[in-house]
Amino acid sequence: MSESKAAIKAWTGAQRRMGLRSARPSILIGLATGLIGAFQMWCIACLLGPVLSGLVGQASQSTPPAWPLIGFAVAACVRIVLGIVGETASARAGRVARSRLRREVLTTFVGNGPAILRHAHSGALAALVVDRIESLDGYFTRWAPASVLWIAVPFCLLLVTLCVQPHAALILGICGAAVPFAQAAFGIGAAVASRNQFLAMTRLQARFLDRVRGIATIVLSGRTEDEATRLQAAADELRQRTMKILRVAFLSSASIDCAMVVALILIALTDGRHAALMAQGGDTGAFRHLVTDSLFALLIVPEFFAPLRSLALAYQDRALVQGAAEDVLALPEAPQPAQGQTVRSVEAHGITIAFENVSFTWDEARGPALDHVSFVAPAGETLILAGPSGSGKSTIMELLLGFVKPESGRITFNGADMQTIVPDALARMISWIGQKPVLFAGSLRENILFARPDATEEELAAAVHAAAVDRFLDVLPDGLETMIGEGGFGLSGGQAQRIAIARAYLRNAPILLLDEPTAHLDPTTEADVFESLIRLTLRRTVILASHSTAVHMFHGRRVDLSHGHVSVCQESA
Ligand code: ADP
Ligand code: MG
Repeated sequence: MSESKAAIKAWTGAQRRMGLRSARPSILIGLATGLIGAFQMWCIACLLGPVLSGLVGQASQSTPPAWPLIGFAVAACVRIVLGIVGETASARAGRVARSRLRREVLTTFVGNGPAILRHAHSGALAALVVDRIESLDGYFTRWAPASVLWIAVPFCLLLVTLCVQPHAALILGICGAAVPFAQAAFGIGAAVASRNQFLAMTRLQARFLDRVRGIATIVLSGRTEDEATRLQAAADELRQRTMKILRVAFLSSASIDCAMVVALILIALTDGRHAALMAQGGDTGAFRHLVTDSLFALLIVPEFFAPLRSLALAYQDRALVQGAAEDVLALPEAPQPAQGQTVRSVEAHGITIAFENVSFTWDEARGPALDHVSFVAPAGETLILAGPSGSGKSTIMELLLGFVKPESGRITFNGADMQTIVPDALARMISWIGQKPVLFAGSLRENILFARPDATEEELAAAVHAAAVDRFLDVLPDGLETMIGEGGFGLSGGQAQRIAIARAYLRNAPILLLDEPTAHLDPTTEADVFESLIRLTLRRTVILASHSTAVHMFHGRRVDLSHGHVSVCQESA
């Protein structure tokens, strides 16, 4: 949260400019609505003025004119239509802004790859993309127009009132000017309160997500009560912080009510005295005029304060953008491909991968994870990376996937430095299967087609057969349409891994990275899965990380790693 103030200011400034640009229609409509409101109040004053002065007995009872009634009705209709158009326009502006922000944040997530999880909890990241950005809706739909209208509409109404009754305009002006001071005082409180509330919400979300994932561990260790109490505490913190926001919002709107009541009383008092003096004079025409003008001055007061109230309601939205700026700017920047000779793709038929003196450190305190590692994986062949746990196999995979960059040395694909290959081309070239396949909640078919949604039915069937998924389809209730839970819930480890293999068949990429694909499987299942994999490795450049003894089933070079060094590099038959 130590993002520099200047960066936050620049970000919020950019959002403000974009917000104002997209709020232009709403601003124009708001201005028109304010002026129409003034006209409506004038109509009411003209309608009631003669009636009231007649009741007081100073003017002869006359039938009120018909035009104010018609004018009021027409203006009301126009106001309704404008209201609908304005709401639609501002909703659209909000939608566009939110999807733009989500795209920006997701691009950063994708660019950083799994490394983003070193930066923040997945719950916090989800809260940023979903809730944080959703909460900015009000900034674009309410705050952006209100930030202009709160000054524009009262100013116009003040001018109108000035023409009708100068002393009322003076009172309105003074009372209106007092409001921003009160708002500024409460606004600072609102900003702090809403930031704290969001922090509390993120904490609750992260905790809940964590505990749901580890529900089995919690139940088995008899910690259910403890965890429930802690969740309760986090929820309680959120409740208190939400109440604080409501309190600040209540105070801020009460300050506007106060200013409005004072303005009403002052106008009524001055006009009352005026009217009393005039009543003694006995000029009925002038008296009726005065009553009409006074009525108008009183009726305009709520219209005058309405935009200020909208601003106060939207003030919290402004505070939210500040918090969002901190979160968005705290995200690590996505690594950019090296500038200069950017390669779109490399030779598609067979890719030779070479590591040339590659070093990489995750954490200075723990020393380098890879120390001057060099090896070559020839095109179309399999390279086996062997070595105990922690020797750096997965680090090599992460480097090849482009999620992290070598500190020194380089990785080449057919001689081209990997850094110069555009990320899209790189992603198209590589299939990856890890220890635990990532399966999403949905049907088996959806999960396999995830690799290539446009695959034909024949291609899907071929992949299902090649990966031996069809061997366990019979026991599933709905075959390929069987629904599975998040993370492959409902499938065995071997079955889930077969889904991943079927995906890789569908993708048909020239490079295949396998990171201990059988680490969690029993020897029999492992042999089965390896068999499916061997077929997949044909004519592809494969790097297989495994410390299983069964890797002898694969033919190819073997590189032994230990503590980030290459200890043995041998060709096997
Ligand atoms: P292997 O896959 O061979 O088991 P890894 O490549 O995962 O080994 O790990 C190599 C070393 O790098 C280990 O000491 C491990 O603790 C460290 N390491 C791996 N990933 C990270 C990470 N994301 N952050 C910090 N250290 C890491
Ligand atoms: Mg590993």
